[in-house]
Amino acid sequence: MEDTHGHRISYLRISITDRCNERCIYCMPQEEQIWLPRADVLDYEEILRIIRIGASLGISKVRITGGEPLTRRNVIWFLEQVSAIEGIRDLGFSTNGTLLTRPLPDGRSTAQGLKDAGVKSINVSLDTLDRATYAKTTGRDLLPDVIEGIDAAQSAGIEKIKLNTVLMRHRNEHELWDLAAFAREHDVLLRFIELMPVSTTEVLTEDNFLSVGEAMALLEFRLGKLIPRPEVKTNGPAAYYEVPDTGQLLGFIGAMTNLHFCETCNKLRLTCEGKLRPCLGSHLEFDMREVLRKPEATDEDVARFFMEVVERKPKEHDFRNNYQPGRRMIAIGG
Ligand code: SAM
Ligand code: SF4
Repeated sequence: MEDTHGHRISYLRISITDRCNERCIYCMPQEEQIWLPRADVLDYEEILRIIRIGASLGISKVRITGGEPLTRRNVIWFLEQVSAIEGIRDLGFSTNGTLLTRPLPDGRSTAQGLKDAGVKSINVSLDTLDRATYAKTTGRDLLPDVIEGIDAAQSAGIEKIKLNTVLMRHRNEHELWDLAAFAREHDVLLRFIELMPVSTTEVLTEDNFLSVGEAMALLEFRLGKLIPRPEVKTNGPAAYYEVPDTGQLLGFIGAMTNLHFCETCNKLRLTCEGKLRPCLGSHLEFDMREVLRKPEATDEDVARFFMEVVERKPKEHDFRNNYQPGRRMIAIGG
């Protein structure tokens, strides 16, 4: 599948739940949560059908996200089914890391279950190493569980582990070096992400926004001039730089300030209630569940729907001009 701007679409990012065991200030409103009714959320069979059809159209990479995907029941079984789909060569998983050590019914850790189910890479959110700041940012005092979770993922032998840090002035700007040091000690890749206007909470103010440019300047103050490594590519929009003395790679995801951010976009997103979104940063979304749940819908109908959505993919996101109040990241699937 190729859109009208020459983007070849090979990556489908799927939110399997809007539920979460944390309450990150930039992701969820802080008041009481109203979750989607279960019947509105796609069941596993429906998602698997979408992936199978997507794979027949050139989707080769799938990332499972949420909400917190580890809060959905039987997720390991689901991942095993995804891995078995012909054409899916890369299966990734995004998590807040708090549940990776939880034992499965057969005694393995959840992290081991992910590895055994064929998950190739996991992204773990980690905005701070300070327990109090973590509790204030996520609404839960679970930093020790996350650190143990990262260890569990490494012990399980998951090949690629990335840490994602959302940049927030006044909250973690003074910790960027510590986070970089933590990543180096654990031999995992760290990426810094600009805060995006996808929620309504009070943290999303201009005052709290910290650009990747400023983050780099802060890091360079201690680490020396970062060396651009444009040839390093993960499957996404991060730009990588090398720390001069240590060779450590650091990633920077400048959704707001990098004007070339969308040029290499190869992604579609599927929300947990079955809306296909050609771009995270635009209001456009199309109801795939409606097509899927029509008793007479054939795989060809679903495939046509996929292609029509790809044709509507915008050239670039509209975050800078188009603040999106009310559409929480948790519902879209970050
Ligand atoms: N629960 C999992 C987690 O926290 O990694 C997966 C879902 S979460 C929505 C995916 C990613 O989106 C996380 O790395 C999170 O930090 C990021 N995110 C959520 N809201 C954001 C925002 N307003 N701006 C930038 N990143 C955001
Ligand atoms: Fe939950 Fe992840 Fe959103 Fe935090 S960022 S509230 S962990 S879904």
